[in-house]
This record gives sequence, C-alpha cells and structure tokens, in this order.
Amino acid sequence: MRERRGLVGHETDNPYYEGKKYPEPTVCERCGLFYRDGHWQHPPEDLPEGVHRALCPACRREKDRYPGGLLYLGGTYLVEKREEILNLVRNQEEEARGQRPLQRILWIKDQGDELEIATTTPHLAMRLGRAIHSAHKGDLEIKPLEDEYMVRLFWRRDLKEA
Ligand SMILES: [Zn+2]
Repeated sequence: MRERRGLVGHETDNPYYEGKKYPEPTVCERCGLFYRDGHWQHPPEDLPEGVHRALCPACRREKDRYPGGLLYLGGTYLVEKREEILNLVRNQEEEARGQRPLQRILWIKDQGDELEIATTTPHLAMRLGRAIHSAHKGDLEIKPLEDEYMVRLFWRRDLKEA
C-alpha cells in the first residue's frame, strides 16, 4: 500500500478519488460505466475497440466495502415513517445518480429501530441526510472524519410521549 503524504490526506492520495485519471477510454469491468473526457458516464451502445478495463471508484468502494459516507437513522419516528423515509432515500439516490453515476447507495442495513445507509460518496450521504432533515425535521449531526475519505451523519427523531 502506498504511503499517505502529509498529515491530512490530499484528495489525490485518495484511492477512491472521483477525479482520478484513467487511460481513455476505459470501461468499468464491474458496472459497465465508461470513462471518457475525464469523467465516468453511461456507456455508448458499442464499445470502441481496445478499450481499457478497470474498476470505477464506486465499484472499488463497493468491492472494498469502504463507503464514502455513512448515514445512521434512528428514533421512534423512524419506525413509524420508515417506508416514507426509505422512498425519499431511493428517489434522492436516483436523482443523484442521474447527475453523477458514481453516486450510489452501497447498502442499507436494517436493524429494526435503526437504519445504516452506506454511500459511495460523502456528497451523497450529505444529500440524503439533508433531504431527510428538511422533509422530516428531527436532529441531524454531521461528523466529517479528518484524514479519512468519508463523512458520518446521524439523524434521529423521536415521537413525543402521549
Ligand atoms: Zn463500476
């Protein structure tokens, strides 16, 4: 493994950095995304000959099970509104993915009164956390981790006792 330079990892030292350069054109051997003109995009109908193969940053995170963002949801309100909140999460993911295909949800772990949502990018976790917060209120706490390429968010809301 390559040594990290400096005290705080610069983004170019980040093995999952979305702006990392690949030879053009490259196709992701796992999800089929296509790298050209400096970014990952949906593939053309016919792949050109001699296309390079690699893992895109999102698939690399998926394979390593190393998310860029973790969002924890909890509270009695969540139990009540679970489906509504999960729909919001899926719609937000779809929209984000339409804009930048590297933004994906890696997993949703359902632990009854708590949900853990892992995303490929810190940006997507922030987007989901903020969307839930703005639609459902509650408390949102954001904890970026220094020298790690990820962010953690904690959201919870409890129903008031009757
Ligand atoms: Zn991929």
